[in-house]
Amino acid sequence: MSSSVSICVVGSGYVGLVAAVCFAEIGHRVTCVDNDESKIKMLRKGGVPIFERHLPELLERHRGQGVVFSSDLHGAVEQSETIFIAVGTPQGDSGAADLSYVEGVVSEIARSIRSYTVIVEKSTVPVYTNDWIRRVLCRFGVDPANFDVVSNPEFLREGSAIGDFLHPDRIVVGTSSPRAADVLRRIYEPLTGGSYYAQPDALAGQHTAQHPAPLLVTSPQSAELIKHASNAFLALKISFINAVATLAETVDADIEEIAAGVGLDHRIGREFLRAGLGYGGSCFPKDVAAFHWVAQQQGVHFRLLEEIRGINESQKEHFFNKVVSALWTLRGKRLAALGLAFKGGTDDVRESPAIDTIRRLLQAGALVTAFDPAATENAKKLLPASENMKYAADLYEAARGADAVLILTDWKEFGAIDLERLRAQMRFPIVIDGRNLYPADQMEGLGFSYVSMGRPAVYPVHEKQPVR
Ligand code: NAD
Repeated sequence: MSSSVSICVVGSGYVGLVAAVCFAEIGHRVTCVDNDESKIKMLRKGGVPIFERHLPELLERHRGQGVVFSSDLHGAVEQSETIFIAVGTPQGDSGAADLSYVEGVVSEIARSIRSYTVIVEKSTVPVYTNDWIRRVLCRFGVDPANFDVVSNPEFLREGSAIGDFLHPDRIVVGTSSPRAADVLRRIYEPLTGGSYYAQPDALAGQHTAQHPAPLLVTSPQSAELIKHASNAFLALKISFINAVATLAETVDADIEEIAAGVGLDHRIGREFLRAGLGYGGSCFPKDVAAFHWVAQQQGVHFRLLEEIRGINESQKEHFFNKVVSALWTLRGKRLAALGLAFKGGTDDVRESPAIDTIRRLLQAGALVTAFDPAATENAKKLLPASENMKYAADLYEAARGADAVLILTDWKEFGAIDLERLRAQMRFPIVIDGRNLYPADQMEGLGFSYVSMGRPAVYPVHEKQPVR
């Protein structure tokens, strides 16, 4: 394995914490810093603040050894050759990313640099942030010979973040400094040279010692645009298939068949061609908006980005209308909501279409009982429990006495429900599936009214086709 690098990761959220334990996993010495003292306390005591596959095992393996947790940024910067900034870059009012957390961290770093340090921007940021970081450091009097700034965007997905980090499709290193590029090459060498994959306890994934991860060195601006362009393209695929799904509904076609037929073309690919409630989460909505803002600033009218966003917004409205058309009126109806997270495999509810949908249902007077395998505690902060909003301990409890079950998140377990048991719990056997988790004929065979996305709805024979 290559030589160990002392790394400071600033931010211990979905990206920072995963990056910190994965850097330890590939042999580096890491200090993970957060200004949220309660998080640091929890991490030091052995707690795991986010739900993420493999994270508990890796934390167990490296905590206190390869990775330590601290709220002292100054001390961590002094001891580290490289600092990865992984703090939040939420959407501001104008659509632009709010970079105040990044700037705050950079100004603190400026006070603590003692010798040559590589500052790595891992948060998702607009083009020219790399330049701004350099400028701020110089304004604070840091000698330009004492630092370089690198853009190293992160492409991990919540729910498979550890696997994605250790088996990345690509590692992008944006810098104009050969010296800094070499430091980043050293850090990622166990993945790009393959030595990590040769270890007996390495996490298995797409790469092997013979086929290691690729690393691409680019200019800083290219690296910044690669991240925004990648997320916008993925959001585009989702909005595209959702628009096709809406069209498919009007001609009684089946979007699952269409997506299979389109996705088998290897130039297009099957992934992200899943019709549903639309995208959400802490990345796509804000990154599409930030990318649009970047283009506007440069005088480029990137209207496609507006369409991607617009289709995504209509999709949530479209699902809500399906609920209305399946149930006629909503006031006083008891609805079971399966899913709160923005997608399966995570406890993250930021910009979750499930939360948005539940809000609409509550506003329309429905009584909602929700269940999510991991995101309930986070959801309660946005949708506090009340007379109309209840939380269940499992999905069957949520379905008890329900006028309809709504599938809002694509958790694996929601695709493997004991459907007879579910039906026995419900007042009426109506399932409105925003994630297309079941074949319509299976649901029909079990006597459900089943409404899904981009496919003909099915109803038991005794029910007339409802008015659209
Ligand atoms: P997060 O909100 O989960 O974590 C950010 C962390 O930074 C928090 O723990 C916060 O307390 C900490 N923080 C804020 N200011 C700080 C400061 N001054 N000093 C120390 N710590 C500070 O965010 P996240 O989801 O990990 O995302 C981080 C960045 O990575 C964002 O730019 C995001 O767009 C990008 N990104 C996220 C994902 C994802 O799936 N979540 C994937 C790729 C890239």
